[in-house]
Amino acid sequence: MLQLHYSWNVVEPALNFKTEVSGIELRGWLPDNPVAVSPEILSAIRTKKVPKPLSVGMISFQHCPTRRDLYFSVKESREGDQTWGRIAGRLAERFLGNLVADRFNRKLSSRQKSYPAVRGVIERRLRKFINERKDDFALLDKYKTTAVGNRSFFGTILCNAAIHELASQELDFTLRAATERRSQPKETELTPAEHLGLSKKNTPDFIFPSLRAVGDMKTGRELEEYHLLTCAGYALAYESQEKKPIDFGIVYFFPTQRSAVSFAQVYLFVIDDQLRRRFLLLRNSAYTTLLEKNAPPLPEDKSRCPTCKFLSVCQDQGLKIT
Ligand code: SF4
Repeated sequence: MLQLHYSWNVVEPALNFKTEVSGIELRGWLPDNPVAVSPEILSAIRTKKVPKPLSVGMISFQHCPTRRDLYFSVKESREGDQTWGRIAGRLAERFLGNLVADRFNRKLSSRQKSYPAVRGVIERRLRKFINERKDDFALLDKYKTTAVGNRSFFGTILCNAAIHELASQELDFTLRAATERRSQPKETELTPAEHLGLSKKNTPDFIFPSLRAVGDMKTGRELEEYHLLTCAGYALAYESQEKKPIDFGIVYFFPTQRSAVSFAQVYLFVIDDQLRRRFLLLRNSAYTTLLEKNAPPLPEDKSRCPTCKFLSVCQDQGLKIT
């Protein structure tokens, strides 16, 4: 059973989830089924019957219910159209990611003890960031699909999320609540063992080897299953490379599509066998899709089509949405 905990600052993972962690069996270093891909899939990767091995992100992000999007990207090498979500996600991840990294690396001063000081730091950073990326911010207005998608609202939520983030980090550093142990992510590029059938480069946003945790920064409307699955994929990749266990996933989630101003949230969960199995099944079915001669059919559920980067491709192929 998946354990999801809001905020990693209030739990001691190794103690709180001892039972769940002791039940994990599907470790990435195991070279056999179900962790390893089948010999057919391995051979298809080696002989390039599928154009390239899939990354953790490609496997876990399932926007199209029938996975036409994966087929178009990988098998037909299509780029797809620009979408609001892609632009906003890139901007949020860059701005908040830099903030978190700078704080971890002590590039940001730890002297901002008051709210006005924190606000001042963030506003200055944001102004500079917007200035350097004027074109991307202008695209938000162009591709917005809701009234709240414009650049000014997006700037406001980015600013508030960053203030919240920096303020809570200041609190952590001030309280020294075991933060030394928690606050040094190891930036790394993972090269998983071949038996996992994953691409050679996978880059989680955070790895905390001493906490046995791996994490990613995500944006969107709400926390989704694929955010957790991404961490499961990274955990398996890390385990296959290092032969050491990863037990926990951390998703730093920033809501970009809400009408109310909201803050980033941090979720902590056990990467248990249920989640690992789900990732491995998705991996297998993704490869099966790519081995087909033709793209998968249009899905019955078309609710995700309006925000899909392949909308125009599918419309050219007969997709109709009301
Ligand atoms: S537009 Fe719809 S049918 Fe086409 S790939 Fe995207 S989600 Fe799938």
